[in-house]
Amino acid sequence: MAINGRPAWQSCVAVGAAATAGYALLPAAGLIRAVAYALVGGLCLAIVVRAVAHYRPRQPATWHTFIAGLTVWLVSTVINRVTGAPGWSRTADLLELAGYPLICWALAGLIRGRARAHDRTAWIDAGLVATSLWLLYWVFVLGDDVAAGGTPWTGKVLAVVIAGGDIALFVLGSLLVTTPGARTVSYRLLLTALVLTAVGDILVIVVPDPRFDLTGSVDAIALLANTLVAAAALHPSMRRLTVPLRRPPAFVRPRLFLLTAIVLLAPAVGLYQGATGRAGQDWLATGITSVILFLLVAVRMAGLVRRIESQAERLTLLARQDALTGLANRRQWDERLAEAVTEQTFTGQSLFVALVDLDNFKAFNDAYGHQAGDELLATAAAAWRAHVRDGDLLARYGGEEFGLLFTGCTAAEATGVLERLLAATPSGQTFSAGLARWDVRESPEGLLHRADELLYASKHAGRARITTEPLLPAAAS
Ligand code: GH3
Ligand code: MG
Ligand code: MG
Repeated sequence: MAINGRPAWQSCVAVGAAATAGYALLPAAGLIRAVAYALVGGLCLAIVVRAVAHYRPRQPATWHTFIAGLTVWLVSTVINRVTGAPGWSRTADLLELAGYPLICWALAGLIRGRARAHDRTAWIDAGLVATSLWLLYWVFVLGDDVAAGGTPWTGKVLAVVIAGGDIALFVLGSLLVTTPGARTVSYRLLLTALVLTAVGDILVIVVPDPRFDLTGSVDAIALLANTLVAAAALHPSMRRLTVPLRRPPAFVRPRLFLLTAIVLLAPAVGLYQGATGRAGQDWLATGITSVILFLLVAVRMAGLVRRIESQAERLTLLARQDALTGLANRRQWDERLAEAVTEQTFTGQSLFVALVDLDNFKAFNDAYGHQAGDELLATAAAAWRAHVRDGDLLARYGGEEFGLLFTGCTAAEATGVLERLLAATPSGQTFSAGLARWDVRESPEGLLHRADELLYASKHAGRARITTEPLLPAAAS
């Protein structure tokens, strides 16, 4: 949408800011302000309704709930201004309270739409933020007020509930930041509106002194927030507000920095109180908050450790496995061979190494294609695996060469296994193999070298056979 060639959302921000400034210049209190507030705020909401109808976003219900919440807040403020604040008007209070669940519900819908709302770490992080924030609210704003006489209990309850609502808004706002999703213009405008709303509410609670009448500033902030919501709805990217990102941003370092700062808030409050002679005044709130914070951090760390462990396990597996055949790879083969040689030195058990090389595999590739060659490697590996004992090792040594490690068996048994493998080789293919017995003194390399020589003896003798020591073909197909 555009107005006079300018994007509609920009015009909306410009006009809204001007209207807000005009509003702030109006004479304090009175009907004129109430009417002006209703007009500017109402216009913003009408724009949102129109924009939702125009852009047809994926989650219209989320937008409608949002509009309902903002409308309820607008009406509440207007009633308060007409009846002449600061007296608590019951209808206005109820409307103000009703606005919180509506707005929170809409934000939760937005977060769910932006994916991974079920992401536990995002919720734990939001919990950490909320808990620390609650402590600050209590120690510096609410605690004294609630404890002090003078304020009627309805006022105290309302202050606590509104503070709770603001915390909920803040948590949802931080979830909006911590869950992935497109960081579009619409998203940024909406987030700024949310921050402005929180600032307005904090002002009301921080400065309850009637000598400083802040209603003008608070109302101006609320109007500006409404303007930004209207602009967010007018921007074409509003359609992508609930579209999840395919690749979520890593976002690890800034998040860690933020979380550290947040967790340090509780001890910082304790230290501050000690330094200002108020030590121990809020020991219960500080204590409980610290316990909750540390528990949340422990849960968060446990999740992190679990993730790192499972990733490490997966990496270890990947590093030791051949991708094509799923067999042990050369790295694992070398490790296991070295281990077996060391172990057998002590146990005195027999140790055999066989090297297996597919015959005329280049010709097979040339005839049927490289992909068919790959498939043959994979199916041959699967067929052979069924014939290898649990304690023995079958590995892809490289290319179309495989290695077999036998322990605690006789030469005849090892040859028998190789014969079964030769018979099980798929697609009518064959292999040549060399089987060497470890002589108790030689190195793994020496043993492999002898097996390789025996393999070449098989090749020279006409392929499709297994050669053992002495250099005589032990079996031929
Ligand atoms: P020989 O009987 O003497 O062993 O003959 P050969 O053709 O098997 O031996 P050569 O060493 O001449 O060729 C091995 C071939 O194996 C060449 C290469 O293209 C093929 N090869 C090696 N690794 C792979 C692989 O991962 N996939 C496929 N498809 N082919 C492979
Ligand atoms: Mg070869
Ligand atoms: Mg070969």
